[in-house]
Order: sequence, then C-alpha cells, then structure tokens
Amino acid sequence: MKNIVVEHMLARGISIDDIGDIVFELQKKYHPDLNKETCVEAVNAVLEKREVQYAILTGLALDSLAERNMLPEPISSIIREDEPLYGIDEVLALAITNIYGTIGITSFGYLDKIKIGLIGRLDSSPGKVNTFADDIVAAIASAAAAKIAHNGLRN
Ligand code: MG
Repeated sequence: MKNIVVEHMLARGISIDDIGDIVFELQKKYHPDLNKETCVEAVNAVLEKREVQYAILTGLALDSLAERNMLPEPISSIIREDEPLYGIDEVLALAITNIYGTIGITSFGYLDKIKIGLIGRLDSSPGKVNTFADDIVAAIASAAAAKIAHNGLRN
C-alpha cells in the first residue's frame, strides 16, 4: 500500500525528498547533529501508517477530481478555488498530524503560515488544484518532525 501512496504523491508533484527538506528546516534548530537522511527516514515511517495512507489517498483524489471538474457542484468549485472558509483540507490533515501527539499539531499550524519549500510551490501552481496537497505535505512533515522530537535522533 505504501508504494501505491508514494506513486500517487509523485503523480501530484510531491516527493519524499522534498518533505524531508521541510522536516529538516523544522527540526535543525533543536538538533544540531540532524541530517537530511534522518528526516527522510522519519517521513518514510509516517508513510507506513495506514491512517496516514488513507488520508493522503483521499485528499489527493479530491484535488485530482476537482482539477478535472469531475466533482459535483458546488464542491468542485469550492475545492478548485481553495475557498478560505472550506477548512476540510486542514481537518483531513489532522488525521496525519495526530499520530505522534500534539507537537505535530503545533508544527502544522506554523507550516500553514510560513509555507516553506514544497508547500509554497504547491500553494502557487497555476492550473493545478492543490487544496488538499499543501496541507497533506505540511501534515506529513509535521508528524515526521514530531517523531524526531520525541525520539531524538535515534529511531
Ligand atoms: Mg489547503
């Protein structure tokens, strides 16, 4: 199942490596010895969780369907235009941030504001619908950062 999820992510322009960069940015000030490899390992651990996989598949499917106008109205337009009051993209992402406790939720709120790296690129891709994708990436990065925060640099 994880391989299928990773394929769907890549098809939507989301790589594990790019998420690893965000995790590194989030955690480097707390762990001076942190390296990118540890961040990528943490992302991979997050992607092993079934509830994470289901949240990713659900969100990316909705983005893809909205992009191709295949959802019923009015939800198609709401997702396509990323209506500010929609908020279900963030709610879905909480299924991911929650897996390692509340540190993940704090980082998620922070990433939602500063939109570093891939999150910013997804947020401003003309012609693409990434309403769920940006929150999914922020949530995976936040959960991976929380895993590193809880466990130190060991697994
Ligand atoms: Mg969003």
